[in-house]
Amino acid sequence: MPNFQTVRGMRDILGEEAQTFTYIMSKARETAELYGYKEVITPVVEPIELLSAKSGEEIRQRMFIFKDLGERTVALRPEFTASIARLATSALKNEPKPLRLFSVGSVYRYDEPQRGRYREFWQSNFELIGSNKPEADAEIILLTNSLMKTVGLHGYAFKIGHIGVIRGILSKENVDDKTQNAILQHMDKKEYEGAFKLAPTDKCRNKLEGLLQLKRNDCFETVENIKSYVADYEKAKVAAENLSDVLKLIVESGCPVQVVEPAFARGLEYYTGMIFEVYIPELDIALGGGGRYDRLIEMFGGESTPAVGAAHGIDRVALALQMQKTTLACKSGKRVLVLSVNDSLKGEALKIAQQLRISGIIVEFEIMGRKMAKALEDADKRKADFAVIVGERELKERAVVLRNLAKRQQHIVSIKELAEKINS
Ligand code: AMP
Repeated sequence: MPNFQTVRGMRDILGEEAQTFTYIMSKARETAELYGYKEVITPVVEPIELLSAKSGEEIRQRMFIFKDLGERTVALRPEFTASIARLATSALKNEPKPLRLFSVGSVYRYDEPQRGRYREFWQSNFELIGSNKPEADAEIILLTNSLMKTVGLHGYAFKIGHIGVIRGILSKENVDDKTQNAILQHMDKKEYEGAFKLAPTDKCRNKLEGLLQLKRNDCFETVENIKSYVADYEKAKVAAENLSDVLKLIVESGCPVQVVEPAFARGLEYYTGMIFEVYIPELDIALGGGGRYDRLIEMFGGESTPAVGAAHGIDRVALALQMQKTTLACKSGKRVLVLSVNDSLKGEALKIAQQLRISGIIVEFEIMGRKMAKALEDADKRKADFAVIVGERELKERAVVLRNLAKRQQHIVSIKELAEKINS
């Protein structure tokens, strides 16, 4: 007998976990709607050139790449932003700005599987295209805040940085782009020694190392520290001021605790400005993150267009909800089993089932040909609230028997009032 298993790093999502996934996705859609983001659905398989253009060495090496039967080299998307940038330079090129776009779906990275880290995982993704203003950066953080709050998480915090601070220092110290990217990759993984070793001069190395000493408990104090630390580095100074503007907007609008991390970097290469991640104390991996990428769309052949975006890891948000033992605020209708006492009444029973569903009641129909007692026992085990028993005598009066399974009580109820009685 074959023993089929899922591919390493991929998993079946069942039962409560599947319910939690659907719940998070529905909250992400609600958030998208409330902030005016339109949903777009892009392919899971994209040309390798598109996906590897600017995502960074880290992700390039972890893509699922293959040749399709037409000999095209393609890959499973490791993220959404490249596909969205393609849209912004093609189908949506002439749309008025800003563009607010939302997607949800699975993404694929050849990561080392462990808790909260899979090779197939799910993201909700938001992109705000066309504005270079700090309000746009703030909007992406605030909608992430809304999503974390609305799914029911608590105690989460935002870590914020600015890639322009580190790049500003490196550019002035004449570090080429390739080395800059390698340094940032190391810093993203907190491999500071590895990062500092790549600095071409002692001055550059010391300047990078010094970033680690600037962090304070108060986020505004940290930003002020960064500003004075990079006073001689024009681009880094502008970046620090921009970070300060974004931070003010977020704090003034009531978003929870911020940690400003001067040496914070993210794996994706295309970031140019503010970057952020969101965490809960119980888990040391990020639930979501994002940042500003002002040059990507231009690199994809479009007009120079500033943009900022975020992706939220649905698998990790589900894990966080489980760790915080959060009860999902699902809209759950009453559950009912509909059954008829004999075969000739099945058509009528199906019709009643249909009417109940229209009233928002969850109806399972008895389809196993079981005797009444067995069917009721099974409905009770499946945690149904009621059984609706369609019998000859009651039906003559346009009524049925409504049985409360937990209370083991039953009454005759007219079909007209049935939905109302169940929902009351
Ligand atoms: P990124 O696209 O790298 O900015 O990641 C955005 C979010 O996706 C992260 O904050 C995580 O929540 C989630 N994520 C990234 N990699 C994985 C993975 N291998 N498994 C599960 N979730 C992931």
